[in-house]
Amino acid sequence: MKYQSTRGGMAPQPFSDILLEGLAPDGGLTVPVALPTITPDQLDSWRDHSYAELAFEILQLFITDVPAQDLRSLVQAAYDPANFTHPDIVPVKPLEEGLMLLGLSQGPTLAFKDIAMQFLGQVFEYVLSRRATTLNILGATSGDTGSAAEYALRGKKGVQVFMLSPKGRMSAFQRAQMYSLQDDNIHNLAIEGVFDDCQDIVKTLAGDLQFKEAYHLGAVNSINWARIAAQIVYYFWGWLRSTQQSSQSVSFAVPTGNFGNILAGHLARRMGLPIHRLVLATNENNVLEEFFRTGVYRPRQADHTHATSSPSMDISRASNFERFVFDLLGQDGDRVGAAWAQLARDGMLDLSEDQARLCTEFGFVAGASSHADRLATIRQLYQATGIIIDPHTADGVHVARDYVEDGIPMIVLETALPAKFAEVVQEAIGIEAPVPAHLKDLSNLPQKVVNLPGDAQRVADYIRQHAAI
Ligand SMILES: *Cc1c(COP(=O)(O)O)cnc(C)c1O
Repeated sequence: MKYQSTRGGMAPQPFSDILLEGLAPDGGLTVPVALPTITPDQLDSWRDHSYAELAFEILQLFITDVPAQDLRSLVQAAYDPANFTHPDIVPVKPLEEGLMLLGLSQGPTLAFKDIAMQFLGQVFEYVLSRRATTLNILGATSGDTGSAAEYALRGKKGVQVFMLSPKGRMSAFQRAQMYSLQDDNIHNLAIEGVFDDCQDIVKTLAGDLQFKEAYHLGAVNSINWARIAAQIVYYFWGWLRSTQQSSQSVSFAVPTGNFGNILAGHLARRMGLPIHRLVLATNENNVLEEFFRTGVYRPRQADHTHATSSPSMDISRASNFERFVFDLLGQDGDRVGAAWAQLARDGMLDLSEDQARLCTEFGFVAGASSHADRLATIRQLYQATGIIIDPHTADGVHVARDYVEDGIPMIVLETALPAKFAEVVQEAIGIEAPVPAHLKDLSNLPQKVVNLPGDAQRVADYIRQHAAI
């Protein structure tokens, strides 16, 4: 299996060579040269697999330059029940007539990003050690992604993590989650300023090519291909747990921000998984809902991004979207390159000629929720079933209900547990979301954090002193 760029300007490379890179050299994103396909018989033969066994079957199709027995150990370590609060790793739970929840949030930070990050942590350590090299992860976080990366990379050899966060601007729970990690390779840097200031510092340092090379700087953002590949697994898992035979199809509803999660569903469908609809759900930041409705993609500026009650979806420029457009434009790198040039020039991309194909050929439909919709969904579901969901999952449930069809299970991806967004849950139902037992004492643990001014040079100095070289 080799990987190419969506813009056609990169010689095909194996998995281990693209793993640690960000964008392809031509500015595009890496995608498989040919997507593997799965037969109905293969699908049925996986029904008794554990999550780790299924993950191995699927990931070995994408990772052909790691010996199979090594890959099997990495996958087993990532999806060890000890890392998750449910023995199934990803439980599938009935919600109401026709609707189910895919429980992706049983990992260490209570959100779906843990599923892919746990595998990423294993495979990073493995590839770095085989190549006798090191990596210094530099990132900025306003809460979520940063903590999933830290929990996945804590204690891993050859990796140091430098995570910038805006001082005093995260919730007490988020602070406790990140700052209580005592591992030597985890560096929490609380910066004077807001999230954008942290992001600017990361851009400055990663843009200094000499510094970047000398200190082996890397990132774990949502365009990382290993994360996408690991996410494909749970679409197969959700289908296996809710069907009896390979002729049955299901639909998935996905709370969406950067288009990483639902892209994995799109790839699973192209591999042959019987997916009827991919329901894309956004909040008030509905750039992608607008695209799937009209065929016009119009990203917005940061100052036109609303701060909502489903903050992990407050995104107005979807970093993985180019990988879908690559398929829409017939996997023609020249056409994708031209489309992104048009986007840069005009601030929008008009693919309305292809709008009908989005549903007929690719199975996509879309909808958006408002703050009031999410509160009403959380409240109604709690009153009817006693189940509490978080505001991101509520966005998925709200939109999914418009697309339920007879005889086709609709599986909503649970992207976070309610305890993570306790204030919104409190506003909706007037009670506190239950905190998992092992996190009850989190806020009493000692915290490790370094305070720094919002100055890129001070952050660079810190990295020089602590980097893995
Ligand atoms: C990251 C995140 C999302 C959005 O996922 P994308 O892959 O960016 O589309 C949705 N919900 C939660 C809770 C998240 O953390």
